[in-house]
Amino acid sequence: MTNTDTADIEATVDQILALADAGSELVRVTVNNEAAAQAVAAIDERLRARGRPVPLVGDFHFNGHRLLGKFPACASALAKYRINPGNVGRGKKRDVQFTEIVELACRHDKPVRIGVNWGSLDQDLLAQMLDENARAVQPSTLAQVQREAVVQSALRSAELARDIGLPAERIVLSCKMSRVQDLIAVYRDLAARCEYALHLGLTEAGMGSKGIVASTAALAVLLQEGIGDTIRVSLTPEPGGDRTREVLVAQEILQTMGLRSFTPMVTACPGCGRTTSTVFQSLAQAIQANLRDRMLLWRDRFPGVENMTVAVMGCVVNGPGESRHANIGISLPGTGETPVAPVYVDGEKTVTLKGGDIAAQFQDIVDDYVVTRFGGDADAQAAHRSGVAIHASGGSGAAESG
Ligand code: SF4
Repeated sequence: MTNTDTADIEATVDQILALADAGSELVRVTVNNEAAAQAVAAIDERLRARGRPVPLVGDFHFNGHRLLGKFPACASALAKYRINPGNVGRGKKRDVQFTEIVELACRHDKPVRIGVNWGSLDQDLLAQMLDENARAVQPSTLAQVQREAVVQSALRSAELARDIGLPAERIVLSCKMSRVQDLIAVYRDLAARCEYALHLGLTEAGMGSKGIVASTAALAVLLQEGIGDTIRVSLTPEPGGDRTREVLVAQEILQTMGLRSFTPMVTACPGCGRTTSTVFQSLAQAIQANLRDRMLLWRDRFPGVENMTVAVMGCVVNGPGESRHANIGISLPGTGETPVAPVYVDGEKTVTLKGGDIAAQFQDIVDDYVVTRFGGDADAQAAHRSGVAIHASGGSGAAESG
């Protein structure tokens, strides 16, 4: 999801393109006022003019019915509307305004994500369920009632949307929670009780490693169970931090689980007392960064390259073995070892690198390998892809920045 002012068309287009370049397949933008709603169509036009028609999801709260009605170009340009049942409107207005948005979605042939968020849960529904629970013979715990309220908010809203005329296949549900166990419990329940597409994401995951670990812990369990059609990793950016990091994390979750492949993966050992220099760390980092950069060019020219694996190992203990299992591997000299670095290609040792520019020599080998292995004619590539895939591709989970 972008964090620019949507009304700032230039800044928003730039960030959408950065997110898309990083691999986001859908990008959500806030549509919080008339200026933002007016900007959406211009943003979409600019993306198309640059040959990058990124599907945009409009995020609406409280005034979505009015904005979508008043700005049909916005309603038409968006690929999906996201509405939060807890923030559609208060009291009697809630169902009326929800109905208006869904009718607009039907008119414009758009899907709707009904996105329940734990932090803005429909308080009327929660109060009603707490009252019922208090009268029950065997009351549930508060946590159980809260989780059930989240699920019911999504399911009841979906039912209302269908009654209004939105087809089931145009409904996506999400129930974002901020605690890992709550998220897992709620999505397992949702998946068991409905057939709607599900968007996964841990909300308020946090900053840095905490946000990454919490999101991964929650999403991995659900994805492993086949739950989830789109995902988002919600990281709080550090000041001046890169917004695209959440996309890379989302991709890495899917790729390390073997669900989809996006970019060649580098396997690197953690290092130990056998590697008292940082040579292999620097090389692993340089290779990974270079692979990501080159994927922008490789993606179209070298189909299947995203499945390639590269091993960068710190010494001879595990280096040769791990290198043989990768498409290309290098085993650097550990402390006290002869200053040479054997390279393995498709399991065979091909060359031993020496000198002060081992990193550059190895990069050239990787580049040559990509062209040779993935740059054949279409038939050869197809035959090759069927035999070379390291990670199974396909399965669930599109990386979404929204
Ligand atoms: S491969 Fe060598 S350097 Fe790397 S962790 Fe293992 S023993 Fe240490």
